[in-house]
Amino acid sequence: MLVFSTIASFEAYISTFTKPVHTIGFVPTMGALHQGHISLIISAIAENDICVASIFVNPTQFNNTEDLAKYPHTPEADIAMLRAAGCHALFMPTASEVYAISETKPYFDWGYLGNVLEGSHRPGHFDGVGQIVGKLLGWCKPTKAYFGLKDYQQYLIVKKLTADMGLATQIIGCPILREADGLAMSSRNTRLSPHDRAEAVLLYNTLLWIKANATLLSTYALEQEAAKRLQNHESFTIEYVSIRQADTLAPCNPAESPQNAIALLAAYIGGVRLIDNMAL
Ligand code: AMP
Repeated sequence: MLVFSTIASFEAYISTFTKPVHTIGFVPTMGALHQGHISLIISAIAENDICVASIFVNPTQFNNTEDLAKYPHTPEADIAMLRAAGCHALFMPTASEVYAISETKPYFDWGYLGNVLEGSHRPGHFDGVGQIVGKLLGWCKPTKAYFGLKDYQQYLIVKKLTADMGLATQIIGCPILREADGLAMSSRNTRLSPHDRAEAVLLYNTLLWIKANATLLSTYALEQEAAKRLQNHESFTIEYVSIRQADTLAPCNPAESPQNAIALLAAYIGGVRLIDNMAL
């Protein structure tokens, strides 16, 4: 696997491929890799001639400086995992390579999508995501880019970004990989204490409960009961439990059972913010 740390060397490598003869599959990450990330790499390898990954902990998408400071870094293990998976190239720039000192975060009009759930709880987060994903897609010019459905709202935002920018890259949403007990794999899981790690599975179990009852109860009742289940646990601070229309994240009719919907939640567990979702 080739490793690039400068934009110039990365773009020179990318320019050696002629499209559409060679297809490039791209997997952007923030490192601290786990099998969820590797599942995206495996899809990119299977569907393209070349698989390119990036590792960059993008400071502009963190609305909380402590979260950025505590974000796990495991570069040696990450490189070994990517090599073992058969990834062809890795772009791993520094912040000063990516951002000019004078550079300010752009404002994107994400419409409704930008103002709800993660958008309202993490102000500026999606502008930072748009800023970095726009840059990375511009340098890599992939045929397909792979994003996890674990970050479902981010997946919709990135699809809107590429459509609005008129980019040729196809955005592929990949299923959520989970630990044996059902907790969604996340780089942040390593920050959980053993006690909180054991409790965290309640997020998944709550989503399962919503799905099991989705045809029996109204959206309102499902959201109320799910929130109650989470609130009963002292280590949890819930940000949202919400059932939304899957394609737009618009609210579902509270009086009816949800149709074509997705349940999404975010909670702090012992100071670590986790998100998860499940299509209903
Ligand atoms: P991150 O490094 O957390 O920014 O994630 C990089 C990519 O991996 C994003 O597209 C995530 O949605 C995806 N990802 C993270 N966790 C999982 C998971 N458990 N299953 C599938 N994809 C994931």
